[in-house]
Amino acid sequence: MNEYEAVLRPIVGDALHLDAPMARYTVARLGGAADALVIADSVALLEQTARTAWSHGWQVRIIGDGANVLVADRGVRGVVIINRADKVTFEESGVLVAESGAALISLARACLERRWAGLTWAIGIPGTLGGAVVNNAGAYSGAIADCLLWAEIAEPDQPTRRWENAELAYAYRESVLKRRSAPFAVLRAALQLQPNADPAALRAEAEQYSAHRRRTQPNGASLGSMFKNPPNDYAGRLIEAAGLKGTQIGGVVISPQHANWFINTGNGTAADYLALIRLAQERVAELFGVQLELEVELIGDF
Ligand SMILES: Cc1cc2nc3c(=O)[nH]c(=O)nc-3n(C[C@H](O)[C@H](O)[C@H](O)COP(=O)(O)OP(=O)(O)OC[C@H]3O[C@@H](n4cnc5c(N)ncnc54)[C@H](O)[C@@H]3O)c2cc1C
Repeated sequence: MNEYEAVLRPIVGDALHLDAPMARYTVARLGGAADALVIADSVALLEQTARTAWSHGWQVRIIGDGANVLVADRGVRGVVIINRADKVTFEESGVLVAESGAALISLARACLERRWAGLTWAIGIPGTLGGAVVNNAGAYSGAIADCLLWAEIAEPDQPTRRWENAELAYAYRESVLKRRSAPFAVLRAALQLQPNADPAALRAEAEQYSAHRRRTQPNGASLGSMFKNPPNDYAGRLIEAAGLKGTQIGGVVISPQHANWFINTGNGTAADYLALIRLAQERVAELFGVQLELEVELIGDF
């Protein structure tokens, strides 16, 4: 029995999986094994697992839908927690309080049904509320930073507490959490939305965003946008201008439809992704003097 099994099995039972392949927990459908993986279907289990692992000095990585992470072929050391805690409450004042494993798309749909404005931009963004809070997920005219009231966050050796929006220091696809090296777990978040919106206007807005995604987003397993857009430009435009659209390495191809999307054609590996990432960065820097910065996060033993 290894140490993860000895410590975690009595606490989490069947939710613990040892040497567990990550491919099934990431949107790009690839990644090596986690030493220990716990599927947390409640906030209590999420927090307890994280605190137990922290107290043993183990590395902990919390994964929502794995929509923004590239997991190394050699896998992830320590404990990975897959966050499935997804209870939601809607308050009359237009405040939505959700557990961090709630799917952002489901929250956006639920708001539409209730005629609440303010989250329609999220209608096509995969991932959980927790991932969105960390990454400041956004699209079109909106982002989490614009509607987040507070996030409830656990840290080692500290009582769990609410962080107000200002403390999260949001910027474009950035937050103080994303840059943070010390461990933390987002447990819940509250969003301020606007009730009693015009249903026809909301539906039209949602349809406009969905149609735009259908028109512009390539099909297939991917991580969405690979790179952040540099100031006053588009990463996809630069990669295309560098002649790299359609370039394939191993099982991963730079989408012929949208050059900032790298598609796993079926048997792609993280190494294939990394080789294409480096190629795009080098070529764009050489030709245009622009350093493309990853939007996607590399995790595990690269
Ligand atoms: C097809 C496609 C389209 C996309 N379109 C968009 C878009 O329009 N706009 C946009 O912003 N993004 C987009 N993305 C990227 C992605 O959807 C977002 O970044 C999303 O917020 C990731 O959420 P997640 O739950 O999958 O996070 P994950 O990828 O699982 O995790 C992301 C980071 O957050 C951390 N994390 C996650 N949950 C917690 C938690 N509870 N506590 C502590 N840390 C946590 C992880 O450890 C990791 O560091 C797209 C991705 C795809 C595949």
